[in-house]
Amino acid sequence: MTTSGAETPGPQVDGPLLPGYGQTSLADLSESLLTSLGVPGGGNPLGLASASRVCVLLVDGLGWDLLRSHRSGAPFLWGLTETGCWLTAGFPATTVTSLGSLGTARPPGQHGLLGYQVRVPDTGQLLNALRWDKAVDPVRWQPGPTIFERAAAAGIAAIRVAAGAFRQSGLSVAAMRGADYRAAETPGALVASTAAALAAERRALTLVYTGDLDATGHAWGCASPAWRFQLGHVDRLAEQLAGALPTGTALYVTADHGMVDVPPGHRTDADAVAELRAGVALLGGEGRARHVYAQPGAAADALAAWRAVLGDSAWVVSRDEAVDAGWFGPVDSRSAARIGDVVAAARGLSAVVATQAEPRESALVGMHGSLTPAEQRVPLLSCVA
Ligand SMILES: [Zn+2]
Repeated sequence: MTTSGAETPGPQVDGPLLPGYGQTSLADLSESLLTSLGVPGGGNPLGLASASRVCVLLVDGLGWDLLRSHRSGAPFLWGLTETGCWLTAGFPATTVTSLGSLGTARPPGQHGLLGYQVRVPDTGQLLNALRWDKAVDPVRWQPGPTIFERAAAAGIAAIRVAAGAFRQSGLSVAAMRGADYRAAETPGALVASTAAALAAERRALTLVYTGDLDATGHAWGCASPAWRFQLGHVDRLAEQLAGALPTGTALYVTADHGMVDVPPGHRTDADAVAELRAGVALLGGEGRARHVYAQPGAAADALAAWRAVLGDSAWVVSRDEAVDAGWFGPVDSRSAARIGDVVAAARGLSAVVATQAEPRESALVGMHGSLTPAEQRVPLLSCVA
């Protein structure tokens, strides 16, 4: 019996955690940030306080659940979780997609950066969005305005601080063009460059990116001592940043996704199970979030085969089912053509690897992409310098 007036639905023990598009997703964070800076025309779903200078520290791979379970390893950030909250990354929970959401303030189905590897409809080739492909124009691939372009148009300095290698990447151009880019290769340089850039501006939006925690988790696992030690460096970076920013700057700390470690016994190899390749033209996405592109006429058979092989280890749906369920948010026709005929989101600790086609990715210990809380929930922490 329930004591509340409403019927209690059956418990959602193991359902997907759907991104809170329009309310509590990374895209909503960016829209709220612009509004907090006085950029007209948008909303402020997160209710952020107005500020003249904003600094966002984006920590690749820092899931909310991971952070909450490392109190002693990250005392500064853990302390901020007490007054912070979690947001949902979006689907897939991966850097490409989340940078798209943060950079455009729109959900994946609108900005069209739909995963690590997606099919380019015009060519039928896979686009690895971290490496990019010269044949794909990043501005045509994501033609909408970025938050940096919108900020600059409103007279607000738009600044990015990150490793120089990302300055001209296809993903940077697609998701985050329009910012004044400051290359900084080390944590100390990130802090000093950010502080100096903000000190020179009266109104500014600054995004600082660090990727070492994600890289450590992929290589060693997020349950490893290496990850825990690396988290300590992130904690120090955030604390130094808070101490170095001009007084009154609003500092936000967030992430693009969390992570889970995938044990060897939880890996299904798409290059060793013939049923997973039958009628399949291209395998996209990544281990925990797959886009399966079927050959013409084979979509229904591929869907049935993937469901049969993966069983309870993944949520396996058709493109239409994924769109209707809101996995990508509202989807325009340009984006729809990039989604797999079958979409498979890993449950539990499973993954669909491809040891022949993706030997490097298939060897990773930590992975992400799916709709579990460990991957979807990312922190939104804040303090005022
Ligand atoms: Zn990653």
